[in-house]
Amino acid sequence: MSSVIVQERLVSALIEALGADAVIQEGDALAYFSNDVYRGGAAPQAVVRPASVEALQEAVRICSVAGVAMVPRGGGASYTDAYILPEGGHVLFDTGALDAIVIDEQSAVVTVEAGVTWMALKTALDAKGLRTPFWGPFSGIAATVGGSVSQNTLSHGSTAHGISAQSVLSMDVVLASGEVLSTSASAAMRFYGPDLTGLFTGDCGIFGIKARIRLPLLPTLPHFETLSFAFESFADYHAASRKAAMARLDDSHFGLDLALSQGQIGRQDGMGARLKIAAEVLRKAPDKMKGIAQLVRMAMAGENPMRAGAYMCHFIIEGFDAEEAAHKAKILRRMLSGLGREIANSIPTFVHSVPFAPLFNVLGPGGERWVPIHGVLAHDRAVGFDAAYQAMIAVRKTDMDRLGVWTGTMFSPVGATGFLYEVALYWPDDRTAYHRTVLGGDYLAQQPHFAANEEARAYADDLKRAIIALMQEHGAGHFQLGRAYPYRQRLSPQAISLLGAVKAELDPQGLMNPGALGF
Ligand SMILES: Cc1cc2nc3c(=O)[nH]c(=O)nc-3n(C[C@H](O)[C@H](O)[C@H](O)COP(=O)(O)OP(=O)(O)OC[C@H]3O[C@@H](n4cnc5c(N)ncnc54)[C@H](O)[C@@H]3O)c2cc1C
Repeated sequence: MSSVIVQERLVSALIEALGADAVIQEGDALAYFSNDVYRGGAAPQAVVRPASVEALQEAVRICSVAGVAMVPRGGGASYTDAYILPEGGHVLFDTGALDAIVIDEQSAVVTVEAGVTWMALKTALDAKGLRTPFWGPFSGIAATVGGSVSQNTLSHGSTAHGISAQSVLSMDVVLASGEVLSTSASAAMRFYGPDLTGLFTGDCGIFGIKARIRLPLLPTLPHFETLSFAFESFADYHAASRKAAMARLDDSHFGLDLALSQGQIGRQDGMGARLKIAAEVLRKAPDKMKGIAQLVRMAMAGENPMRAGAYMCHFIIEGFDAEEAAHKAKILRRMLSGLGREIANSIPTFVHSVPFAPLFNVLGPGGERWVPIHGVLAHDRAVGFDAAYQAMIAVRKTDMDRLGVWTGTMFSPVGATGFLYEVALYWPDDRTAYHRTVLGGDYLAQQPHFAANEEARAYADDLKRAIIALMQEHGAGHFQLGRAYPYRQRLSPQAISLLGAVKAELDPQGLMNPGALGF
């Protein structure tokens, strides 16, 4: 039987099971779905968008019988070839219509379907004065709970509560057979015997497609303080972030070097954004007079916080009442004195007001292409890595300048023991179907545009690989592994054999996101 007939039968079966609206085959849409934020791959033969867990199970069964690869995609906001199958011909599972949220206040648990975005979850929980411990990446306007849990994610709530995986109680996962596996036998606890939930976090979908995820609930703390500090050296910045991460006084904090601060983040400082911040600062201030005082401070600081030092660190601190938030801020100030100097707090105030900003940052401030590369370093390796990285960039500077390639850096704590060093890499190049779909024609018409630039693109890809290799030399670990970061190579033979056996048990035909994580 020809492959065209096989494909037609598969698509007909999917349409019959899910309805025609839930099966996408149209060329432009397939082009969009074959790109992540970084780059494109081969097209899927179809995209399915099941609207219920039962429909998801049925679509998985149909693909399994046909022996066709299945690749899950949440919000598509990743950049590690994680949902891109280089050889194509797969069925892509868009989880966007799996969007139910069930809040059980009595049990302090929220159950979400995998395609719920962090922004939708926050909106639903805000209305009840509740939150999850980790409550989303900066990309939460698009990023889903299922996608984040499948590749490990940090940001909002991470200093206080850790990464996405640490906030999951249990999950229901649709296996390659179409059956549903629940990862905990208890509704109230995760650690009931071996941690099966943990096995599925960070798996990039190779063990199955997450359908439902249960997360614990906490009360929202209504009072907050935002603080910013500038540092003259990376060593001082790192020492401050390490101290703060160990003390866990803040809900989250992040750092920026000067290049990133002025470029990517600085551009949020347009007039429209300022008015939006002003409205949000006032809306969120429990004490309106304090809110007005904060606006005045931000207006007087103007753009200075963007260029106050070589490195800047921004903290968001929360409390049950104003005194608690102010007290924590006071301790943090004392802790960091001698390392950095306090500067205007416009940036964390902006982030607190607009935690899930539109995805304008998928292009650089001058319309360049963008890809972040990160490594999580042990504290005793952070300063050494920074020196090695700066030396590497110095050697490459002439070529980078010639090609218009540049970098900025962002930092976050990963618990008390890890330091996330993230390089944002920019190069002049044409946009892809991803950028055109996500940003839209009206926005892009206002932005600078570059022609396709194969030389700069190849250089950026080579630099990306070199940065990952350098991070590996310094013992770094990574989130968002996809197909970009080494994983299997870092495992012992015993661990490879165990994970291989798990994969063979859950997905005997090897159809679930084949190649991700090296499996
Ligand atoms: C502007 C911007 C800001 C960002 N900020 C942050 C940040 O603050 N912190 C951070 O950690 N990352 C950040 N990211 C990276 C990324 O957005 C996040 O890691 C996010 O968690 C990706 O979620 P997603 O739903 O888009 O996943 P996708 O990109 O759709 O998928 C990611 C991986 O998960 C798998 N997957 C998706 N859904 C499922 C499912 N239901 N079952 C099984 N596997 C599944 C996919 O196959 C893929 O391997 C940012 C990205 C952008 C563009």
